[in-house]
Amino acid sequence: QISRSDGRVHPATVKSVDGDKSTVMVEWNERNICRGKEASQSCYFSDYMTHPFGEPSRPNQKFYDMIQDFRETLEVTPLSTTDHVTRRICVCVRKRPLNNKEITKKEIDVVSIPGNGALLVHEPKQKVDLTKYLDNQVFRFDYAFDETSTNDLVYKFTAKPLVQSIFDGAMATCFAYGQTGSGKTHTMGGDFAGRQQNSAKGIYALAAQDVFTYINHRRYANMDLSAYVSFFEIYNGKVYDLLNKKAKLRVLEDDRQQVQVVGLEEVYVSTAEEVIKMIQMGSACRTSGQTSANANSSRSHAILQIVLRRNERSSTLHGKFSLVDLAGNERGTDVSSNDRSTLVETAEINRSLLALKECIRSLGKNSDHIPFRMSTLTKVLRDSFIGEKSRTCMIAMVSPGMTSCEYTMNTLRYADSVYDAISQVTELE
Ligand code: ADP
Ligand code: MG
Repeated sequence: QISRSDGRVHPATVKSVDGDKSTVMVEWNERNICRGKEASQSCYFSDYMTHPFGEPSRPNQKFYDMIQDFRETLEVTPLSTTDHVTRRICVCVRKRPLNNKEITKKEIDVVSIPGNGALLVHEPKQKVDLTKYLDNQVFRFDYAFDETSTNDLVYKFTAKPLVQSIFDGAMATCFAYGQTGSGKTHTMGGDFAGRQQNSAKGIYALAAQDVFTYINHRRYANMDLSAYVSFFEIYNGKVYDLLNKKAKLRVLEDDRQQVQVVGLEEVYVSTAEEVIKMIQMGSACRTSGQTSANANSSRSHAILQIVLRRNERSSTLHGKFSLVDLAGNERGTDVSSNDRSTLVETAEINRSLLALKECIRSLGKNSDHIPFRMSTLTKVLRDSFIGEKSRTCMIAMVSPGMTSCEYTMNTLRYADSVYDAISQVTELE
């Protein structure tokens, strides 16, 4: 007899047991019990049933069951296309699906997204008497995207409204924030089909496509605008040009506080395909010469800028969209390293992410003082934090697994503190 975790009991034959007894192959003669498969099929025991040896079939079966029970009580509201945020600053969160490696390791998904911008973390905890319980914590943002959301959908609610704003003269910025592996590059640069990144499916490319739609639109055609692209990386407080073989560039501020990245390549583009080529070139440049064990792309911020200039008036800046794939935020809690260069790197990342948070909060509070000098990142994005015409969107990415719980909580607290500061922001008309 095999009893499943949902309580049903079936006659079955054990075919094989793996070494640590965590997975058992069984065969049975009931119809439709293995996700609708036909009778007499073999099936991985642990996915469907409790363990015949009295051991949990996953390392944390109890928590898994508790989370499943909790989810049954949740009322889920799907995202509606009529929900639109009309504030200058928007904060949202995206949860990626468990990946194959996590599924193989039987990682537990501890994040639920019931809708209406809400997100729950079911943090597994234990009392002193060893009783297991869940600490369910609720967060709320402008939008919460669940693991079934595509880049297209995320784009529509986040960056798309910002594209239009640059045609109206805005300085717009979209940030991808989160721990390494949470999906920042997937969201911004495009999803990975196998090893290759599909650059046409990221927010960078989707934004570029819309830029050219608007440029040719009759509403904006008489403005005579041209689009330019630059792509650079900030690593350890230094700027490197991704469209020019990682040339190291200087950041200067003139007496009018205008910040300039001296010598930054700005390439004229007339189609989305050309932008996609630049993205591919820049991304390849970003990761070249890195081993995966030493991938400093996760320790650098990458910034793609789409700049609109007026043709007639000697290329006056009209609007700018900065799309930022931020460095992984996980270092903040990792103080175990003794390596000096790692410590310096960590300090720099923490400082820039803190500076970013403070700048967005100041923008949200309409404060006169924007602490942009705190880091290179906020210095080069200074335009984005000043003036009536700034628009910002932060997408906080989270990994769903139980082992990422602490990092996920850090990410959500960061996003929450930005969201908290902007709730007083005046609505756009
Ligand atoms: P980060 O840039 O935050 O370090 P990545 O974007 O490189 O993370 O994502 C890590 C892995 O997870 C990649 O293999 C990526 O394809 C996958 N991934 C991330 N987000 C998603 C998603 N929403 N759907 C499917 N796979 C995803
Ligand atoms: Mg990345």
